Amino acid sequence: MPALMFATPAPLEEPMPVGDTDGRYLRQAIGLSNTARARGNRPFGAVVVDADGTLLAEAYCNTTETGDCTGHAETNAVRQLSPRVAREVLAQATLYSSAEPCVMCAGAIFWSGIGRVVFGIDAQRLRVFRGERPEQRDAELSCRDVFAASPHEIECIGPTMIEEASLPHIGFWKA
Ligand SMILES: [Zn+2]
Repeated sequence: MPALMFATPAPLEEPMPVGDTDGRYLRQAIGLSNTARARGNRPFGAVVVDADGTLLAEAYCNTTETGDCTGHAETNAVRQLSPRVAREVLAQATLYSSAEPCVMCAGAIFWSGIGRVVFGIDAQRLRVFRGERPEQRDAELSCRDVFAASPHEIECIGPTMIEEASLPHIGFWKA
């Protein structure tokens, strides 16, 4: 597919390389963003995988179908996990998100104790899709800034697989 053009004037974050295993799970999260969109929600998806490769949670954004503004994919995944998975397991787990976690989701990831995050499209590139409508704009605080304030380490890889992670957003957001 042709390279996507982005109009944001600030320098964009360079994509980070990702291995086959991370790529496979991230692709699964991107697939869930398509599920979200097909159900009338905003196109975001997330999966959480433990250190042995066991799928612990899969979730998609369901804010439109539930009316719950906190129903973001990553926060929904944390809600599934937090009551039933030990913190020691979560500390070794990775959350894969189709897009950079927002400030709320980064906070939920912090509180869950999940130790590693891999995301697809970054918030800055996503803003080009989201446009200027107030109800579509996000709070402009990067997930890395939230994670950097954590007393425990949260490894963060992204943006990566940007073109693939962008596809669910094409034609979705209202100008
Ligand atoms: Zn979020």
